[in-house]
This record gives sequence, structure tokens and C-alpha cells, in this order.
Amino acid sequence: MAETKKIEEEEQKITIEDLPGVGEATAEKLRENGYDDIMTLAVASPKDLSEIGGIAEGAAVKIIAAARKYADVGNFETGEEILERRRLIKKLTTGSKNLDDLLGGGLETQSITEFFGEFGSGKTQIMLQLAVNATTPVENGGFDSDVLIIDTENTFRPERIIQMSKYKGLDPDLVLKRIHVARAYNSHHQILLGEKAAELSKEFDIKLLLVDSLTSHFRSEYMGRGSLAERQQLLNRHMHDLLRFGTINNAVIAVTNQVSARPDIFFGDPMTPIGGNIVGHTATFRIYLRKSKGGKRIARLIDSPYLPEGETVIQLSEDGIMDGS
Ligand code: ADP
Ligand code: MG
Repeated sequence: MAETKKIEEEEQKITIEDLPGVGEATAEKLRENGYDDIMTLAVASPKDLSEIGGIAEGAAVKIIAAARKYADVGNFETGEEILERRRLIKKLTTGSKNLDDLLGGGLETQSITEFFGEFGSGKTQIMLQLAVNATTPVENGGFDSDVLIIDTENTFRPERIIQMSKYKGLDPDLVLKRIHVARAYNSHHQILLGEKAAELSKEFDIKLLLVDSLTSHFRSEYMGRGSLAERQQLLNRHMHDLLRFGTINNAVIAVTNQVSARPDIFFGDPMTPIGGNIVGHTATFRIYLRKSKGGKRIARLIDSPYLPEGETVIQLSEDGIMDGS
């Protein structure tokens, strides 16, 4: 942990202006186009950079080569180090014992857990419940920590936090003080907030980072086939920032995602999550929420690397998330 923090700080000392051939004007152009750190440049292609305009392909090759020298691209870890890091993994309760069991004990730190489902399926309710739960002591399934929420749909409701806190016998004011909410107005703002999360974690002990919703801005801003590649590239970068935050801070990352109907599926459930392979491969745990009677919702675990697929019923209520019967 201390080790990873140190590496990160060393990386941050070198800015893109330190690269040969990158003056103020070029740096500004690069930043405007999302190339704001050494790592992003190191993994860029010369063609990408030259398309920005004002940077010749030859110059782009040199900039990328220099960035690669500085960037810690070949950061290998031994199996022993990875095992050591995995020993630190902690679990956060969802409020439903059944759902926790389905997840092997709760949401894991150092991974991204994705909840997807149609409008009203309970994604935001789960996010709010997780926020409350994270502030509770470890013996109650929490982290006794602060929470960061990136809210893209303006659906954060302090009133719901108060209701859920009261039900658990918590002081609602104390809980609200520990939840830091940032509204994201568009996908670039959302990406920036994902990067800024690291700064907030220096001031507060944040063990839960929520993005509700991960994909809505990307979906509405990048329509049509022509912009799909760019959308996926940005989404990929954003998700890796989130994952990095989770690894460095030993934090849970939970995101929500919408579904769209696939017209080519005639049997079974045609609803499929947005974001394609990028989201599917970066999220370690994916849970599909479906509406049932009243406040009941069916939660299904999909594509887990080591847990069996399965489903369970949860209940949405004024008091929060609990087991459904
Ligand atoms: P999504 O984010 O997936 O669109 P939400 O998390 O906003 O969906 O879920 C909305 C549902 O949550 C409502 O249909 C209702 O069943 C439940 N819900 C929200 N607020 C309350 C409340 N105060 N009391 C009981 N149930 C609630
Ligand atoms: Mg919602």
C-alpha cells in the first residue's frame, strides 16, 4: 500500500511539459484532447496525436517515445506481491444477506462491481445503501470510512440517506458528513472527477467510490457508429482510473449501468448492458437487476471469475435494501 502510494507520487512529479518537444502550446493542445499525463501519452499512437492538429507525425513519435521512457509501463509484480495485496481485500455489506452471500460475502475492495438494469430496477437505491453501510463499523459490515459519489443523473437524495441511517440506528448528520458527492455534468467532467478522486483520498479515508451512472453521459454524447471507438477509449480510461483508485486505496468501486434491448435476440432476455466489452471486462462482478412484484427485485450474478452464477431476491423499501422473501 505505502509502496503503491510512493510510486504514484513519483509518477506525478513528471508532467507532460517535461517531455522534449512539448512546449506550452503543445501541452495545452494535448491536455484539451485528454492527453494530460505521461501514461496516457505513453500508450497513445502517433496517429492519434497527429490528428489533434499542430503536431506532426514525426514529432508525435518522439513525444510518445519520451513518455514511454518516463512512464512505468513495465510495472511487473511478483505473484507473492499480488497475493499480499489480495490478502488486504475487505468486503462491504449490501444490506441484504442473500445478496452478500451471492457475492461471496459482500462487495470486494480492489475490484469494480457493476449493477445494471432498466430504469427503476433499484440501482440508485443500492448505491445509497452502500454509501450508508460503508460509514458503519467493520463489525457491521462497513469500513468506518468516508464515501465518494460521482452523480451523473442528479439522483443523489440526502433524504434517503437520512431514512436509511435512522433505520440502522445511525446519526444521519454524521453519515451525511462522510458522504462526498460530486455532480458530473458531462463525460469529460466525469473522467476528470475520477482522476480527482485521488486528491480527495489524501484528505479523507475513502473506502467506497460510487459512479451512478457510469455510462449515461457516454451513451448520450457519443451516438452513432462513427463515435463508438472514441467512446470506448474514454470509457476504458475512466474505468482504469477507477480501478486504480480501488487498488491504491483498498476501496470498493461500485458503478451502475443501463441496459438496452438487443433487437437480434428473439428468445430469453434481450436486455443487455451498455458499454460493450470494455465495461464487461473491467468490472469484476456484474449484477443484473430485474423488477419483480412491489419493491422486490431479482439480482443475478453474471460472469464472475470465481463465484458461481446465481440469483436472489432483494427488497427495496423506505428503510433501504434488505432480503426479499
Ligand atoms: P434506478 O436507479 O435503477 O433507475 P432506483 O434505484 O431509483 O432505480 O429505484 C427506484 C425504486 O426504488 C422505486 O421504484 C421504489 O421501488 C424504490 N424506492 C425508492 N424510494 C423509496 C422509498 N422511499 N420507499 C420505498 N421504496 C423506494
Ligand atoms: Mg438511478
